[in-house]
Amino acid sequence: MFTNPPARPIVHQFPCLKDNYGFLLHDPSTGETACIDTPDPAVILGEASKLGWRITQIWNTHWHPDHAGGNAAIREATGCVIYGPRGEEDRIRSLDTCVEEGDVIRLGDVTARVLDTPGHTAGHVVYIVDAANLAFVGDTLFALGCGRLFEGTPAQMWTSLQKLRSLPGETLIYCAHEYTAANAAFALSVDPDNAELQAYASEIREQRSLGRPTVPTRLDREKNTNPFLRADDRRLQATAGQPGDEVGTFAEIRERKNRF
Ligand code: ZN
Ligand code: FE
Repeated sequence: MFTNPPARPIVHQFPCLKDNYGFLLHDPSTGETACIDTPDPAVILGEASKLGWRITQIWNTHWHPDHAGGNAAIREATGCVIYGPRGEEDRIRSLDTCVEEGDVIRLGDVTARVLDTPGHTAGHVVYIVDAANLAFVGDTLFALGCGRLFEGTPAQMWTSLQKLRSLPGETLIYCAHEYTAANAAFALSVDPDNAELQAYASEIREQRSLGRPTVPTRLDREKNTNPFLRADDRRLQATAGQPGDEVGTFAEIRERKNRF
């Protein structure tokens, strides 16, 4: 008896609001579709209907309105089930099922693993589809950047980013915002001699001048170029004036980015 392996999930990505991305994750074998965060319900519902996909789930990464603000409208239109961070249950009133690290979500034949990544918000979670090397990281990790520390400490965010850094290098990182060009300018300011970063930054300028997205990015590339994934790098520690101190280096670089 021979069984076909489940078809790989399809990701459909499209711009929302000023600089957010919307993502629909579709399981071709069962037709189930998850919407990762809900920045703009009208746009998201329109994209789903263009593709003939019915949204059956929402996966929230955190409570900010550009991530969970469209939950009610999308549930109203589709009857979907909403998953989101246990730590933000009181802030996202529309959650049906709370998730936290160790939980696994099923979308038809697709499974996603939840990681807790506090720092940007206190309860932020990310969703990892290991079988397809996909990571939906919300506002924790950006191409050449990371989220602002609104509710967490530098130590928490550095721990969260190290969890993401330990995923396989080929992992596609689906960040929630197109912030890459500004992030590249900052990254070059703290790591000007990094040849791989220089090449990446010029590619980004080229892509953006053509109006193309720089998301998703690949983790292996980020590991070599994103200053927020490299607080244990000796050269960056020296630049930050924090030799031997990963958290101190991370905190200093994050602080410099806030002022950049
Ligand atoms: Zn946010
Ligand atoms: Fe956001």
